[in-house]
Amino acid sequence: AQERYASIREAPSITACGTQMSLQMNAGLMADLPSLESSGADGVGLFRTELQFLIRNQMPKRSELSALYSHVLDNAMGKRVVFRTLDIGSDKVLSYMKPNDEPNPALGWRAIRVGLDKPGVMRMQLQALLRAAKGRPLTVMFPFVAQYEEYRAARAEMEKALEREHILGHPIPETLEIGAMLETPSLAFAPKSFFEEVQFLSIGGNDLKQFFFAADRENERVRRRYDTLNISFLTFLRQIVERCEETGTPLSFCGEDAGRPVEAVCLAAMGLRTLSMRPASIGPVKSLLMRVDLGQVRQVIDAAAARGDQSARHAVMEYLRTAPA
Ligand code: PEP
Ligand code: MG
Repeated sequence: AQERYASIREAPSITACGTQMSLQMNAGLMADLPSLESSGADGVGLFRTELQFLIRNQMPKRSELSALYSHVLDNAMGKRVVFRTLDIGSDKVLSYMKPNDEPNPALGWRAIRVGLDKPGVMRMQLQALLRAAKGRPLTVMFPFVAQYEEYRAARAEMEKALEREHILGHPIPETLEIGAMLETPSLAFAPKSFFEEVQFLSIGGNDLKQFFFAADRENERVRRRYDTLNISFLTFLRQIVERCEETGTPLSFCGEDAGRPVEAVCLAAMGLRTLSMRPASIGPVKSLLMRVDLGQVRQVIDAAAARGDQSARHAVMEYLRTAPA
């Protein structure tokens, strides 16, 4: 199988029905960078910057972060890298930050909530990203945005940082894209003006699914209880795609499900065109996508929904087993 994936590494990610997909990789450590070439990824759709904070025993300095981010861009072969700002709290706890003893950490003070309430670290990180870009294009996304105002406030921080760099005479990025992760159901129902304003959205499927089904992603007892291909969840994803289509908002999906071939095909059938996953998943996902007709998968899912199936999985698996290769 590895050889088969190597043989399609340079092949464009086009489905049997002629739909162009973009398959990107998730990363977070310097050791991940060589995978950009070996996997054939179109870019880094999610760079989890908290990993650099988690592997240390003290807060990194701005200059250290800037050097790291610059190294990432140097090694990105001109491909787009989506830097996600610090996503801590919940399951990701920094040993050098005072623990906040919360009864429900997944629903607690985490990610952008920390960034906005204690902006010192976020400002330092934004500055490090701007300095690292050294005039190159820069893409930044904020995690766990639950409402419009949080995106606005975070974006305002970025714009302030940009202004400061400009005043200091530092080069500013050639282009700057500022997006948000859609990881809470609330954001899917934000006003249309939010979808018009946000420069791109990326669905964090791990968190979005956890909150959609109210099932802790870390809890083995409930984690597998709800299928990603559950009709309710697929319907919800389709609605998000439609809202983004209406406003022309670029949308991607970067949870673990993007790296599971059957799930990836169903995400594509729901209208997602950009999927970001572990580098090792790109081959298997591309291989299956190249063999499917998304319109037919969509029909299979719609038929399962019309029958009242709880999940589309059985019908889709059956279709994939019998469909002409
Ligand atoms: C997600 O929630 O799907 C996601 C990509 O972010 P993380 O897994 O780092 O929370
Ligand atoms: Mg998440």
